[in-house]
Amino acid sequence: MTHRNVYCIGRNYALHAKELGNEVPTSPMAFLKPTHALVPLEGTIAMPAGVGEVHHEAEIVLRVSKAYTPGASVDELVDAFTLGLDFTLRDVQSELKKKGHPWLAAKGFLNSGPICGWMPFPGAEAAANAAFELRKNGETTQRGFARDMIFSFQELVDFLGVHYGLGEGDVIFTGTPAGVSAVADGDKLELLWDGRTIGACEIAMK
Ligand code: ZN
Repeated sequence: MTHRNVYCIGRNYALHAKELGNEVPTSPMAFLKPTHALVPLEGTIAMPAGVGEVHHEAEIVLRVSKAYTPGASVDELVDAFTLGLDFTLRDVQSELKKKGHPWLAAKGFLNSGPICGWMPFPGAEAAANAAFELRKNGETTQRGFARDMIFSFQELVDFLGVHYGLGEGDVIFTGTPAGVSAVADGDKLELLWDGRTIGACEIAMK
């Protein structure tokens, strides 16, 4: 399946919004990454050096399998899911926020959205109640549950479908829980779903 649009949701976990000093939003805050950001989460992944902190944001990623129609449930629309990293140039993002500029430079760079392999979507309820986790060099840095999201999977597909459109091959990064931090050259990152490792990579700052 070709990936068409890569939607991302910002500030969808209250504790993460807080850790960055942001207000909790009253409607989903959506942005896009270019499809070129989406790469397999495996092997060595190059991240830009010399542009300040590069933060990992571990997220549940949904894959849409058919066109959105109002009233459709997320379980009908989403056929697969996985975990991914919404890499963010945090210092660049702070500058962009100050200037009121779009986030592309901070969120849309090459390799900024690596994802693990697709798994069959178990349904919104089951997916919301399993732990997802990021380990950096063997230590847990992020661990969350989608049930703690401010906007549920259903609210996200409704919002995106109504305002921007959702169709086969679209991908949604659903937001990150607390615990984001900067990566360094040689860091080993591992993503776990429900206690099982589903992807790993090493960071190369270039
Ligand atoms: Zn994110």
